[in-house]
Amino acid sequence: MLQHYPIPCAIVDIETTGGNVTYDRITEIAIIEVTKDGVTEWSTLINPRVHIPKSIQSLTGITDEMVATAPYFEQVAKEILLRLQGKLFIAHNVRFDYGFIRNEYARLAYSFKAKLLCTVKLSRFLYADRAGHSLEKIIARHQIYVAARHRALDDARATYKFMSIAEEEKGEHQVKQAIQHQYRKESMPAHFDACLVDELPNHSGVYYFWGENRELLYIGKSINIRKRVLGHFTADHKSSREMKICQQTRNITFEKTPGELSALLLESKKVKELQPLYNRRLRRVSTFYSVCLVKQQDGLLNPNILPISELPQANQKRYGLFRSAKQAKEAIQGICDSHGLCYQACGLEPFSKRACSSHQLKKCRGYCAGKLPALQHNVKLLESLSSLALTSWPYPGPVALVEGSGNDYYQYLLIDNWCVLATANSMEELLENARRKTQPEIDKDIYRYLRSAILTPSKTIKIFPLQSIRPLSQPLEATDIE
Ligand SMILES: [Zn+2]
Repeated sequence: MLQHYPIPCAIVDIETTGGNVTYDRITEIAIIEVTKDGVTEWSTLINPRVHIPKSIQSLTGITDEMVATAPYFEQVAKEILLRLQGKLFIAHNVRFDYGFIRNEYARLAYSFKAKLLCTVKLSRFLYADRAGHSLEKIIARHQIYVAARHRALDDARATYKFMSIAEEEKGEHQVKQAIQHQYRKESMPAHFDACLVDELPNHSGVYYFWGENRELLYIGKSINIRKRVLGHFTADHKSSREMKICQQTRNITFEKTPGELSALLLESKKVKELQPLYNRRLRRVSTFYSVCLVKQQDGLLNPNILPISELPQANQKRYGLFRSAKQAKEAIQGICDSHGLCYQACGLEPFSKRACSSHQLKKCRGYCAGKLPALQHNVKLLESLSSLALTSWPYPGPVALVEGSGNDYYQYLLIDNWCVLATANSMEELLENARRKTQPEIDKDIYRYLRSAILTPSKTIKIFPLQSIRPLSQPLEATDIE
């Protein structure tokens, strides 16, 4: 009988037709219930309705013949539920057993939920100095007697036995610490419904943290909502801001998106729209600036700061993404100072008969004083800017980008010059939205993402160049799409 574990609890073990929680099925289940009244063992074979692969048959000893006469899951679903309900669900690698059981119930249109405890993690915490925490290793380590390995009841008994030995060897304090550690590490604060986490999908999208009285605390995006949300709660070195968010969160909701770009854009839109308490304001500004080089009469290349949405001459190289014109100017000044370039030639000071202020401080190598020819200044400028160069937009005009795959829904985006001009759920809607004037959406994340998406097309992204360049105020027709 367990002394220092929360009871009532149920130690569960299952055997399956394989390791895939979606496709494979349960062939046997064992439940050891521990309540204040004592310990009850129960197990049954289950007919999985599919052939058990030979390799699995020889591993578990459970054959097609044995399960042929066994009940289907739905015939024991109620029995299992009665045994598990209201108890802490314990298993060795609990996500596996829990996942399979949840899926079997999901097929019956029932949402099974339980609070979990994992004995792999328990072993890792209590026997940190020992190598390996598989059931195999634990059985060997503690010399636990097992009649038939890989049969559900025998494995559940071994797990139960391990728990008893652990509390005998390590005592109440350490066992309780190990349990607490697990909850702190992998699940949510006490006030938090752990079931919320189970519903989070391994899918790209946007998630919302809600506080008391449905106050919106935070919006985030990820290519894997579940992983990212768990990350918020398990990070060892949380910032105080993140700590506050976690403590105040009472509910989490999410919206799936067909991919990363759609998640980025949805997050940006929702942050602006809903202004959550903890999202830094102006995280995404609608106008970025970059630098273009314009040739003067004497052949000198002169940096020009332009909003990114303002089209420079076709295929003209651009440098840097800056949040403001001021920031771009500061970057140019930094480059001038460290490379001996001229303030006048770089547009930081007006041209005059006198040398620039930087030359007077002996930093500018003297283009302004006639000491450095334009050509040499150009070479130095190009060299120093090269690390900031943005990839040139590879199309003659806007493209329609479609994100999504398989049976998921698709997101349609109108993109030009690395800016997202419009989004929609269908091509027709996209062309419709393109007629309206919208703020172009760009930032470093979007630029980086678009660059990789467009230059190395993936399965989830399709690009349709629109045939001709035309100002966006003119309507685009569906026939423009190749
Ligand atoms: Zn100068």
